Amino acid sequence: MSELTVSEVNSLARQLVKDLVPYASARSSMSGGGVWLNANENALAPAYQLDGTFNRYPSCQPKAVINAYAAYAGVSADQVLVSRGADEGIELLIRSFCEPKTDSITICPPTYGMYAISAESNQTSVNKVLLDNEQLDLDGIFATKPKLVFICSPNNPTGDLIPRQQIIAVLEHFKGKALVVVDEAYIEFAPEASVVPLLSQHPHLVVLRTLSKAFGLAGLRCGFTLAAPQIINALKKMIAPYPIAEPVAQIAAQALSASGIAQMQQSVASINQLRSDFITMAAHWPGVQKIWPSNANYVLLQVADAADCVAALIKADILIRNQSSQLGLSQVVRVSIGSPDDMQRLSAAMQQYFAADNNVSKNQQKRERA
Ligand SMILES: *Cc1c(COP(=O)(O)O)cnc(C)c1O
Repeated sequence: MSELTVSEVNSLARQLVKDLVPYASARSSMSGGGVWLNANENALAPAYQLDGTFNRYPSCQPKAVINAYAAYAGVSADQVLVSRGADEGIELLIRSFCEPKTDSITICPPTYGMYAISAESNQTSVNKVLLDNEQLDLDGIFATKPKLVFICSPNNPTGDLIPRQQIIAVLEHFKGKALVVVDEAYIEFAPEASVVPLLSQHPHLVVLRTLSKAFGLAGLRCGFTLAAPQIINALKKMIAPYPIAEPVAQIAAQALSASGIAQMQQSVASINQLRSDFITMAAHWPGVQKIWPSNANYVLLQVADAADCVAALIKADILIRNQSSQLGLSQVVRVSIGSPDDMQRLSAAMQQYFAADNNVSKNQQKRERA
């Protein structure tokens, strides 16, 4: 078989595609076994069974899944769209509401990377208004003219909740002008902070949810968009005919059963405890300069040399994520909360790393300069 050269492909591909930088997902940087604490997955996940035949095309929006999620989230079934992860929800929103080369979105870095990536692949520009002390810069946001405003709460990677009053202020400002999308991928770790109760008064509010984090189903690829039925109907025009494979629908329905939800809540309680134990311990390590308070299944730490810290842990077969390239952050690592065993190995490795003289002295030099 003769192979296409890169230049032959480039002569055919759209300019946009030639310019895109491939997304490096957490998974693409993994190798081998070891302890995976770099993608905010849930290590305490239950096992699932499948049954039946798969010869028929699935329903585009399987009723059992939609109804179960609507009941779980406290909305009506016509306010729910199920998609291939929350990531597909982000992409559908941008493709449905942003005219390429014309419209923009507003995001508040440091935050989740896919808003900007999906915008770029739809030739939609991105207004970046940095978080200010983990709060929204409202004046900065109000100075933008986007079609969509993305607010992530709890925010990835900082772990903080965006104050509800600020979200309401954004909703009031953009009424009739833009949709306000609140990404609640981690809301099960702080359920009282959900803005779903605001949906009834604010028809331009959109809430993103997923089974990937608290429900422990990142491999399933199943997420939800909650919004007014008119918005859901617009997204349904853009979604693929069969976005949810039948095995995905079956497993999602099991996860959203009463026992599935109870299991999820138990694993959230365990993770919240493991997280607070980890934070208590990390506060004693001399090389840790800042620990962000977390409302999710990960913790952001500022260290002297993030790349060095990640590399040292790789030697101990533990994968964490360097988030230093995020706008507004420097020398930070994000650690996902894993199983009790994972956390023990992580703490031992980090303790050893920070006990090494060179790290401490490097930090002290940094502190003196700061
Ligand atoms: C993980 C994550 C998502 C994506 O969830 P999927 O359902 O796995 O696509 C969306 N938003 C944030 C903030 C996330 O961390």
